[in-house]
Amino acid sequence: MKRYRTLILALMLMFFISIGMIYLQINKVERFEVFIDNTYMGTISQPDVIEDWLNSKEQSLSSQYPEAVMKVDVGEISYKPKKMSGNNVDDRLVISELEKRAVSVASGVEVTIDGKNIAIVRDNEIAQKILDEIKSKYQPNGSEENMVQTLSAKENGDMTGKQQMESLEFVQEVTLKEKLTTPRQITSMEEILSILQTGGVEKVNYTVQAGDCVSCISKKLNVSLDLIYKNNAWIENDFISVGDELDLTELKPMLSVKSVEKRTDTLVIPRGIKYENDPSMRLGQSRVLQEGKDGAKQVTYLITKINGEIIEETPDNEILLEASADKIIIQGTKIIPGIGTGNFAWPIVSPTLTSEFGKRWGKLHAGTDAVSSNRAILASDHGKVVYASTKSGYGQCIIIDHQNGYRTLYAHLSDIQVKDGQKVEKGEKIGVMGSTGNSTGVHLHFEIQKDGIQQNPLKFLNR
Ligand SMILES: [Zn+2]
Repeated sequence: MKRYRTLILALMLMFFISIGMIYLQINKVERFEVFIDNTYMGTISQPDVIEDWLNSKEQSLSSQYPEAVMKVDVGEISYKPKKMSGNNVDDRLVISELEKRAVSVASGVEVTIDGKNIAIVRDNEIAQKILDEIKSKYQPNGSEENMVQTLSAKENGDMTGKQQMESLEFVQEVTLKEKLTTPRQITSMEEILSILQTGGVEKVNYTVQAGDCVSCISKKLNVSLDLIYKNNAWIENDFISVGDELDLTELKPMLSVKSVEKRTDTLVIPRGIKYENDPSMRLGQSRVLQEGKDGAKQVTYLITKINGEIIEETPDNEILLEASADKIIIQGTKIIPGIGTGNFAWPIVSPTLTSEFGKRWGKLHAGTDAVSSNRAILASDHGKVVYASTKSGYGQCIIIDHQNGYRTLYAHLSDIQVKDGQKVEKGEKIGVMGSTGNSTGVHLHFEIQKDGIQQNPLKFLNR
C-alpha cells in the first residue's frame, strides 16, 4: 500500500512541474535585441520604438532646415527577435544611447561645372529645375528679343520666317551627384540661380559726373560700349546728365547656353533684265517682249547662339519655290541712212545760248541762237539735206529733212559743206558757223520744225 502512495505522489509532482513549465512557457514575450554597427545596445519591446524616434527626429530637423532633406545618422541598426519573460526592457536606455550617437546630415545634390563644385542643392528635382530655368531663357518663341531676324533675311527682303529649336545645351559640362552634407551647406534655388547667371559678381554703379559722355565713360573705366547700352537701356541718343546712375555690372555667367535654331525664310528672287537686239527695229527704239516675274525660294539657316547672341549663321538648305523669269527688252539696232532717230543732238560743241525761242519785239524768234569757240556745224540727227543755199535773212542756210516729220534748219553759216539731196548722219559736219544774212555777229540760228511748224529746240536738246 505504501508503494502505491509513493507512486501517486511522484506522478502528482510530475504533473505539477509540467503545469508550471507550460505556464512559464505561455508567459514568455517576444522582445528585440538592438545592434548598432553589430554592437549590442540593449533589448527593446519592439523596433517601432526606434523607428518612431528616428521619424520624429527627422521631421523636426526638416522643419528646422526646410531647404534640405534631413537624415539622422546613428550607424547601421539591426534587430534580433528574442523570447523573454518579465517586463525587463531597455527602451529608454537604448534611445538615450542613440540620442548621443545621432548625427544630423543633409542629403543633397552637388552641382559641378567643368569639374568645379559650385553648390549643393536640396535634391535632383531642384537641380534639374535650376538648369531648366537657365535654359528656358533661350528658348525661341519666348521673348521677342530672341526672334531676331537672320541677317541674310533682312538683306533679301524677308517675306515670312519660321524659327524652331534644333538643340539647346550647356557649353560647360554639368554633373549632378548625391552627397551627404550639413544642412548649412545647402544652397537655395534663388541663390544658385543668381550665382550661375551672374557669376556672383558685385553690382557696379557709376554716377555721371560733369564732362562725362557715354564713350568717355567707356574709355575712362575700360567698360565696353555694348555693356553700357545693354545694362542701361534707358539711354537714348547718348543723352546722360550729371547725377544719372549707370549700371556697369559685368556679369560672368558660369553657365552658358548654346542653342542651335533653324530658321526658314521665304525670299524673293528678283527678276533679271535681259536685252536682245533686233536688227529689224531702228536704233534708239525698244519694246518690252516679256515683263517677267520675281521668283521665290525657301532658305533654311542654322543659327548658333550663345546666351542668346548670334555667333554663327550658316545656310543649311535652299528650296526653289518658284523660278524667276527675266524681263526681256528688245532693242533696235537698224540704222537707216537719211532717216532720223527722233532724238536730236546739239549742232555745235559746248554751245552758249545767246537768244532763246520766243517773241521778240512782237515777232517770233523761231529758233535758238548759240555760239561756240568751235565753229563746226553738225547734223542734229540722221537725215537728208533738202536745202543748201542762201535764204533771205538766213544767209547761207542748210535744211535737213529727217524723214520722220521733223526738219532742222542751220542759218548764218560762213560755209556750206553738203549738197542738196545728200544723206547725212547724226553728228556729221555739214558747215561752218558764220554771220551771213541778218546777223550782227558770228552765231548759229537753229530751228527744229515738226510738220512745218517751228518748235522750241530746247524741248528736244539737253541744256
Ligand atoms: Zn536767230
